Formats: sequence, structure tokens, C-alpha cells
Amino acid sequence: MGLIKSIAAEHLADVQGAVMRSVQTGRDLGGLTQELQERYGVTRRRAAFIAQDQNSKATVTRVRQQGFGITEAIWLHSHGSKHPRKSHVEADGKRYRISEGMYLDDVWTWPGREPNCRCVSRSIIPALDDGRYGP
Ligand SMILES: [Zn+2]
Repeated sequence: MGLIKSIAAEHLADVQGAVMRSVQTGRDLGGLTQELQERYGVTRRRAAFIAQDQNSKATVTRVRQQGFGITEAIWLHSHGSKHPRKSHVEADGKRYRISEGMYLDDVWTWPGREPNCRCVSRSIIPALDDGRYGP
């Protein structure tokens, strides 16, 4: 997260959301770079550097999850937001398939994907899964 210090701390969750959107929609780095540049006013070079760094970290996380055979996660609502989405509050603690996301407000989405969403996820490790979180 060191590189991202060049962007104000309050935008950090937004940036991470932008990165996750980029990874999950398969958008190229150019699109992410442009978004960082336009929204946070960093130089193009800086934005490109951050985009590449963050994008590769997010990709590495997904590849690692897949390598461990992780296919599901638990949605964890962040209680830090002043105006939480009702659907995200209700999704808290619910299980979803990482490949599909969760169907909330008429779209398939993932924690951190929607603008200003600070929700995160916890991977379900198959070997440790005792079924407590339902089917
Ligand atoms: Zn959320």
C-alpha cells in the first residue's frame, strides 16, 4: 500500500474499489490509469505506476485464492460508512461464490466494487469450512 500514499487517505477505499472493478471486469490498465488520473489528480506517470502495482496485487490475490481452491467467500460489510447501502448491510456475513459475486440491487457485484463501497470479504478455506455459513 506504500505507493498509494500519494493519494489522500480518504480516497484509499475508492482507489481499491476502482482497482477491484478493473480486475473483475477485465479492463485494461489504461482504463484504470485514466480513472486514477481524472479522479485523484495524480500525474499520468504516477497513476500508471499505481494502477500497475495495485492491479497486480489484486490479481495475485485472486490467483492465490484459486491456487488454494478457494471458490467462496463471506461478505463483510464495513461499518465505517455514514451512508451504507441497505443491501450491503444485509449481505454482511453471507456466503457467495467468488466467480459470481452477490446479486444486490439488481446487479452481480463484489465487496468493494460499487462506488464508495468499503465492504470486504473473507475467503472460505475449504479445509477449514465447517458449513456454519450455510449452503
Ligand atoms: Zn458495501
